[in-house]
Amino acid sequence: MAKPGTKAARLPELLAPAGSFEALTAAVAAGADAVYFGGKAFSARAGAENFDRDGLIRAIAYCREHGVKAHITANTLVLDRELSEWLSFGEFLWQAGADALICADLGAAAELARRLPEFPLHASTQAGVSDVGAADLAASLGFSRVVLSRELPLSDIRRISEEAKPETEIFLHGALCVSVSGQCLFSSLVGGRSGNRGRCAQPCRLPYESGYPLSLKDQCLAPFIPEILSSGVSSLKIEGRMRSPDYVYRVVSVYRRLLDEGRRAGRREMEELAACFSRSGFTSAYFTGADRGDMLGVRTGEDKAKTADTRSFPGEGTAARKENPVFPLRPLPATAGGPFTLPPARKGPRERRTSFCFTAPEQADAARPDASFGKCLSYLPVGAYLRAAGERGARPFGVSGVSLPAAFFEGEREELRRDLERAKLAGASRALVQSLGGLALARACGFEVDAGYRFNVTNTLTSQLLRRLGVREITLSPELTLPAARDVCRRVPASVVAYGRIPLMLLTRCLLRDAPGAGCAACESGRAQKAPYLLRDRTGALFPVLPEYRHRNLLLNSCPTYLGDRKKELSESQIDGAALLFFCESGETCASVLARYAAGEPLGGPVRRAGVRFAQTERAFDEKEKNRPERNRYGKSIRNRHGDLQHPPLRQGEGDPDPRAVRRGGRSARKPDPRGRRHGEDDARQNAGRQARLPSDPRRGRGGF
Ligand SMILES: [Zn+2]
Repeated sequence: MAKPGTKAARLPELLAPAGSFEALTAAVAAGADAVYFGGKAFSARAGAENFDRDGLIRAIAYCREHGVKAHITANTLVLDRELSEWLSFGEFLWQAGADALICADLGAAAELARRLPEFPLHASTQAGVSDVGAADLAASLGFSRVVLSRELPLSDIRRISEEAKPETEIFLHGALCVSVSGQCLFSSLVGGRSGNRGRCAQPCRLPYESGYPLSLKDQCLAPFIPEILSSGVSSLKIEGRMRSPDYVYRVVSVYRRLLDEGRRAGRREMEELAACFSRSGFTSAYFTGADRGDMLGVRTGEDKAKTADTRSFPGEGTAARKENPVFPLRPLPATAGGPFTLPPARKGPRERRTSFCFTAPEQADAARPDASFGKCLSYLPVGAYLRAAGERGARPFGVSGVSLPAAFFEGEREELRRDLERAKLAGASRALVQSLGGLALARACGFEVDAGYRFNVTNTLTSQLLRRLGVREITLSPELTLPAARDVCRRVPASVVAYGRIPLMLLTRCLLRDAPGAGCAACESGRAQKAPYLLRDRTGALFPVLPEYRHRNLLLNSCPTYLGDRKKELSESQIDGAALLFFCESGETCASVLARYAAGEPLGGPVRRAGVRFAQTERAFDEKEKNRPERNRYGKSIRNRHGDLQHPPLRQGEGDPDPRAVRRGGRSARKPDPRGRRHGEDDARQNAGRQARLPSDPRRGRGGF
């Protein structure tokens, strides 16, 4: 089933991380077929050393000299004002001889594909490709390879690799994010440091009241090499751009040996890998589809003791001294090199529009929007829609369509397709999609398609691309500030999230299964929907956990976003569309939120406003990285003997004493509620004022990266 010229008898590519030139030479010396690294901008690991333009030229030349492919990461989401720079960065990389560009921003990538049709583009795992439909759609946008979601089991990996048009890359070894990639806004909305922009503060590695329920062990697929070799996958990625050259050398060496010998790891190799880095062992539960009970882990003293002394590797230190060969620049085709300009602002009448995303039919019943909301659209999740339609024998009152889960896997696609067909027969005409896979599926089922706030739309190019693909309504990423949203809305009609506890994470491993007093019975019975389990962090902030599609969970923000009293500002910014999101609210609360929103009144209680000030927070972060002191406040070096940053000790209750952290993180607007608190359903709201704080020090909480 191999595609011509890509797979067949050849071994898949072993792809290694290179956070620095030293790590690059280590990867090459250990036998990597390809390496990936980022520039100073647009890299999803802004905390790694990364390369400036001269460094990139030198690193790419080093790879070419050694016959190793250089894949460059530019996989952050791009804002309108950055598009031009991003595109010229892509063209620079082409000229410098890069073998591929790894990107996540669909609109920017499609434009680069138009300019440089010969430049291979790889869809980053942030793009959330987890089924054949998404992979084929990515191919039609210009991607020659898709990096599959890390949560996929082998059966899905095999099927996508066999059936989809682009090559596939999977995640072989290294740290796992607990949230589906591209669906994590925790660090961004709570800490002001966007993971989608390469500045994750890793709140998943912090302690919560119930221990470390969000900290996953590192993935290790060394025991499954024969299965991987027969799966049709083209590339195997080792994660770790924040890890040391020594780590890279040793892990790559182990996998090189296993791949060449076509065998699974024995005890010796597993011990070797654990000695490089482990968090109480490894997991392969996503890949094998095994029980996910054993996936959690933190780095113990025993793990650290196992980490052996730094050993030198062949060629260490030589590369930096040696003069690298100079390769001629690759010429730009006629389609590239020109300036990039955004389309002119749109003209003509503007229309006020509001979309309502409900989770339960009672919410839709209770919410009766008046004329001030303009044109209204409302959605229920597919399952809830079908249940409501079945019970009532008709289309749920006032609901225009169904919302698709933000992530579904290849193995779930057929069932979801059947559900969508049934919903269509039961009167649903529109589908709100949150991913490439959802878009492909809803289009195939003949729905009118709208793109939701989890589609990560951050610029005009992506908005235009979606419109070309038939998408009607677009809700922008909740990470955008109003000025950034205005940049898009003046050219393409789009909405912003104006009310809702925005999901901070999408968890594939059900958090409720071992949560005290919850358990998976609560997800199945719907009890967890009505009275959500609350995850309490070390500052006391409470985050509701809501079951979603098939035991996936949404971790909701402790504090709702609200712009109902800022409607004038929205209108002045040419933002005519609003999305209102309802998760665990009762019908009564929905009605009251709508009433206040319509009247332009404050919500009552603390709320968070739109967006994350990237420029501000990123400058602060980058400054801190640059001026990072080498010693901590106790005078101890912050680096271990490998030269890596140390994991500082986490103490329960050790919060950020800086009171500005609240403003920075949650940007709470406290207004006394004149009517008093009326609804007892929101325990979380009572605690929402204690908006969670993430460490202001970028070193704190950064696991073992
Ligand atoms: Zn569950």
